[in-house]
Amino acid sequence: MTAGKLSPLDFQFCECIGEGSYSKVYKGVYLRNHRTYAVKVLSKAHIQRENKRKYVNIEKNTMSILGRHPGIVTLYYTFQDSKSLYFVIDMAKNGELLSLIQRLGSLSEQLSRYYMIQLVDALEFVHSKEIIHRDLKPENILLTHDWKLMITDFGAAKILKGGEGGENGVEFDGDDAKSEGSSGSTENCVASNGSFVGTAEYVSPELLKHNVCGFEGDLWALGCIAYQMIVGRPPFKGATEYETFEKIVGLEYSFPVNYFVPEQIKDLVKNLLVTKPEERYTIEDVKHHIWFKGVNWEDKDSIWATQTPKLE
Ligand code: ATP
Repeated sequence: MTAGKLSPLDFQFCECIGEGSYSKVYKGVYLRNHRTYAVKVLSKAHIQRENKRKYVNIEKNTMSILGRHPGIVTLYYTFQDSKSLYFVIDMAKNGELLSLIQRLGSLSEQLSRYYMIQLVDALEFVHSKEIIHRDLKPENILLTHDWKLMITDFGAAKILKGGEGGENGVEFDGDDAKSEGSSGSTENCVASNGSFVGTAEYVSPELLKHNVCGFEGDLWALGCIAYQMIVGRPPFKGATEYETFEKIVGLEYSFPVNYFVPEQIKDLVKNLLVTKPEERYTIEDVKHHIWFKGVNWEDKDSIWATQTPKLE
């Protein structure tokens, strides 16, 4: 992963393609192989000041565990200099799924199904590595040059086996390896200041009610994303975060009446947006749902190497 001793001089940095709260993402060409990557540059001072070290370590460690999968942004190299950490990752030339949904208003049934199949395959892979993403949403799903999807942003993830920071954590100069506390249980989703992992509109009812976030939380988010692709907006959205939470806990959502949504999609969403996590569809149930009839989940080429449907 850390190929020899790389440094920023091994890359030609091009335009900035995005900005996060403690990072900037640049297009970068690796001068040894002339390939184009996205290079995420994280400010060490900012990470330490904001006590975000834990999240950076989780992001690095989850991506290292996940290795290569067509539906997941690959981390190729990491290195650092005195001021910054550098993550060299897959370039997602076509930006976020959220932008595509916003641009088109909503996605056609065919395109929604195509992306759902890829998302289910990628999520199954993540879960098979004992990792819960915990912040799945259309902003964290990126699109490649040929419009295939890749899950990103593992900073809120939970690694069920083997811990999160540990030996493979990023080393900070002069740091004593302390980071925000984290337990190995799945019941550590709300920090003492009341903030929680995830994003209001996609957060599961069990997290809000019982501070529990297992694999089922990702399936709840999958239901929200399926709804959003076909309808154009998330199922639960209040004027404030509090209102959004009330809607989630009360399972207050409906499909628009003036807009045709195929029954099979409604049925899938209904079985994912189930309040009790133990009664919610599992990935296996999703794979067997009638909307995905005819999909050969073992044939990865049919999932990842087929032509993307028309963007509509
Ligand atoms: P925050 O840290 O505030 O939650 P974030 O997680 O979006 O924000 P980054 O992961 O640094 O922060 O991403 C910043 C921006 O760069 C995002 O808008 C994202 O769309 C874009 N971006 C991130 N990774 C890639 C990538 N691999 N290819 C192309 N664009 C990317």
